[in-house]
Amino acid sequence: MIDFDELIDEHIKREYKPKGIGRYYPSEAGSCLRKVWYSYKYPTEIAPELRKIFEMGNIIHDFIVQVLKSEKTPQVELLKSEFPFKEQIEDFTISGRIDNLIKVKISGKIYLVEIKSSAGIRFVKEASPHNVQQLQLYMHFIGVHNGLLVYIDKSTLKTKVFEINYDKEKAQKILERFKLLHKLLTTNTLPEPEARKHEKTKWMCRYCEYKDRCHKDTSRI
Ligand code: SF4
Repeated sequence: MIDFDELIDEHIKREYKPKGIGRYYPSEAGSCLRKVWYSYKYPTEIAPELRKIFEMGNIIHDFIVQVLKSEKTPQVELLKSEFPFKEQIEDFTISGRIDNLIKVKISGKIYLVEIKSSAGIRFVKEASPHNVQQLQLYMHFIGVHNGLLVYIDKSTLKTKVFEINYDKEKAQKILERFKLLHKLLTTNTLPEPEARKHEKTKWMCRYCEYKDRCHKDTSRI
């Protein structure tokens, strides 16, 4: 019998390239600072199960692009759906190819749309702060100051949409985070276990591949 799990694993497997200090990615903007720090100091390959979750996000994103492109949805015009991106900040860069971002025109107004797949849309009551941070950074660099965060349920395709307005101060704070990350990495200083210090972000630790290391490094919290 053919093992389809294995076929899928092989199909979505990517060549593993560890990240280099000095080159950061917009998707890291809202993550736990310590986790991002570990990912540079102790790079690990993405676990196959996690890779499948990311792949599902890509599939949902491609589906939404098709919806926006469709002749059946003339009320929206898809302007762009992949953004190569590079910004020099002091002595480091923030760069990458932003796949999960879409630029659309709705009633003459241009929006950046970020698609997030969700395992249970009914539990989504507000836009997650870490998703908002990421979108603020995109709006800052791309210069489009209207944003939509769209959560889409993986099993029902139901959506919840949150309009996010650009906030220059918030975008600057995110840039400051990257400056701090760069400083902590280049001086080999371990950041605070940010996510588990706050009630609202503790959930991130459940999906963190550095959980054990983090607890060993700071067990008191
Ligand atoms: S376990 Fe939590 S606090 Fe520690 S690095 Fe991971 S996300 Fe951050």
